[in-house]
Amino acid sequence: MTNTTGLIFLGPPGSGKGTQASLIAQLYHIPHISTGEILREAIANQTPLGKQAQPYMDAGNLVPEELVLGLVKERLSQPDTEKGWILDGFPRTVPQAVFLDKLLEETPSTSERVLNLDVPDEAIIERLLLRGRKDDTEATIRRRLDVYREQTAPLIDYYRDRGSLHHINGNRSPAEVTEALKQAMVNF
Ligand code: AMP
Repeated sequence: MTNTTGLIFLGPPGSGKGTQASLIAQLYHIPHISTGEILREAIANQTPLGKQAQPYMDAGNLVPEELVLGLVKERLSQPDTEKGWILDGFPRTVPQAVFLDKLLEETPSTSERVLNLDVPDEAIIERLLLRGRKDDTEATIRRRLDVYREQTAPLIDYYRDRGSLHHINGNRSPAEVTEALKQAMVNF
């Protein structure tokens, strides 16, 4: 029996996935779990996790696996995830996806759907430079795009092979992207 849908938002940095994930989460009253947000908050509060993660994030690199796996496991065990959840920024690598699969095997009532926001490179760089987040300097943007291509883009094949992948054209207005996401969710 399946009664919980977990949504995984994939897409390059600057694809708008954070904004869209937040909107969809509000619409469907499910938690938006952004590992990047959790890590940024940890940095702001100077927690041990934040202190360890900061140099990696400032350089545009992924933080080590052992810092993120535990926090995702803990977050997905919270009662507010029972009706569904959105993961944004996790998984970021194939090993993270394998970890998530194992975790979800423990809750057979959960099925996962993966929404991939497609945005061409030129649009991404422009958007990231406009966003102006602390880790959005030109050098870290370039680094994060490389990291995305090398480590995160392989997840598209990973989830395609499992038949749970939906492509969304993310290169249009935010409202149009939201509509397309809602449409995709109706057709799951
Ligand atoms: P985001 O807000 O998703 O763009 O993430 C910002 C930064 O947080 C990334 O550049 C990474 O340094 C770190 N980060 C977020 N999620 C992960 C993850 N799943 N694995 C490793 N590092 C992550």
